Amino acid sequence: MEISSNDSKILIVDDSINNIELLSDILEDDHEIMFATTGIKALEIVPELMPDLILLDIVMPQMDGYEVITILKQNPETAHIPIIFITAKSTTEDMIKGFTLGAVDYISKPFAFEEVKVRAKTQIQNQLLLKALKKANQQLEQLNRLDALTGIANRRHFDEFLQQKTNHAKRHSTPLSLIIIDIDFFKLYNDHYGHQQGDKCLIKIAKQLKQFARRDDELAARYGGEEFAIVLAEMSAEEAFEYAQKCQQSIEALHIEHAKSTCHSYVTISMGLVIQTSYKNMTPESLIKKADEALYKAKAGGKNQLCVYSE
Ligand code: GH3
Ligand code: MG
Ligand code: MG
Repeated sequence: MEISSNDSKILIVDDSINNIELLSDILEDDHEIMFATTGIKALEIVPELMPDLILLDIVMPQMDGYEVITILKQNPETAHIPIIFITAKSTTEDMIKGFTLGAVDYISKPFAFEEVKVRAKTQIQNQLLLKALKKANQQLEQLNRLDALTGIANRRHFDEFLQQKTNHAKRHSTPLSLIIIDIDFFKLYNDHYGHQQGDKCLIKIAKQLKQFARRDDELAARYGGEEFAIVLAEMSAEEAFEYAQKCQQSIEALHIEHAKSTCHSYVTISMGLVIQTSYKNMTPESLIKKADEALYKAKAGGKNQLCVYSE
């Protein structure tokens, strides 16, 4: 995989302006060039500029290249940046020391122009490839947390979120509520309108729920099949109840036609809400169980309603 290195940044660290100019001339056609004339300055600007490659002189006054590389490798933010030593110090011991400290390559002065070009290009290519891979991994990670049909959080994300919020609520004695939602007469909906239309209905409802749960302390997720869940952290009991009511009304207001429903001529939902009352023995499982019990009551009570769990 060839990645364009045109938007890559190289930092040259050398106390000799002549050397900086020479290296810039060689590399500036293919890369953006930045420089520092002392090790201290280099350490200051690297975290800010985040170059894709550093060309580092060893013999410099105040702080030498060995010290600079040691500090950069100790910082997790800069440790991954490849460093090539460019130096007149080129005994075997010098090279071994440089590689041991984490350099990826070594160029001896006086250097051949073409050699600098190809060695720099190799490292830049590796670095850009690594960056692209990391980005792809992050995207994959993101996708792994989304439901393929509706695009909202999936069960896995929900489980992680609820666990995290349960831990937080227990530690800080803050409120936590959970709503489980089930579409009424959804089997009849599928039977009447077809499975594809059923999918569209799920997408519409998911979209509405996602719009509702926008704050960082809220998460709307597809719990499974035609069931959804909303976690509400840091919300008082009154607020959570009102939130659930409004959420139910907003689904009704979508007016998704449902000719076979005996509740209405459009799609409705039943909701089970649990508002945490005691932190003792509270677990994600206990919350889900209680919300499920409340949902069962809502169904048994005639559907299209919100029931709150009570002991
Ligand atoms: P109730 O009012 O008591 O909730 O009854 P219901 O018909 O909604 O519930 P039931 O559990 O009997 O049926 C759920 C239906 O949801 C059955 C299943 O085919 C449908 N379903 C589950 N996942 C999907 C999906 O991804 N797409 C579509 N179109 N339907 C789905
Ligand atoms: Mg169901
Ligand atoms: Mg249902």
